[in-house]
Amino acid sequence: MIKAIIFDLDNCLSAADESSRQLLEPVFTAVRESNHGTLSDGILERAFDDCWRDSFDVVAQRHGFSRAMLEAGWNAAAHAEVTTPLQGYPDLGALRELRGKLFLVTSGFRRLQESKISALRIAELFTEVHVDAIDEENRRGKQRIFADILASHGLSPDEVLVVGDNPNSEIEAGNRLGITTVQILRPGVTRGNNAAYYIDELAELALLI
Ligand SMILES: [Mg+2]
Repeated sequence: MIKAIIFDLDNCLSAADESSRQLLEPVFTAVRESNHGTLSDGILERAFDDCWRDSFDVVAQRHGFSRAMLEAGWNAAAHAEVTTPLQGYPDLGALRELRGKLFLVTSGFRRLQESKISALRIAELFTEVHVDAIDEENRRGKQRIFADILASHGLSPDEVLVVGDNPNSEIEAGNRLGITTVQILRPGVTRGNNAAYYIDELAELALLI
């Protein structure tokens, strides 16, 4: 029996670029200005596109940012925040219908992730909210955070679902712990091959619990 569901935030409960594509423009500008010919314009554009799906450290490594590019982008990203209200995906109301404890676990820069959560006004729906802050020391990572949630709430892996859009992040972390994983195929999300279930909308979770 499912007693708890752990949700991802970006591209799961709200589109990462819902506020505006301008949100990360200072980051892209900082990276571009410190590029100095390291990467072609085409690779830079692909990297910036990836920033809407993956955390900045993952993107920087994947595309081979120089140290200067990483640092310049990092400093800009650490100051980014959403200051206008967000709606999230139109099916967020389904969260209120779900039985059991709900958890929110999101990776990224703390200020930005916390600003999105507060702009969405969804914190009260969750038993706990965890930001896996990439800009802080002793980062636990999603797998450790999931394991800690299970331990502190006395949950076994077969009593939990992990729901998110990213096969390499929360889906992989959940799989490693033996938790049943659900990839939600929001617009623009590519279907992976490592989740136990695939859904298009949150309401479908009711059928899995
Ligand atoms: Mg996500």
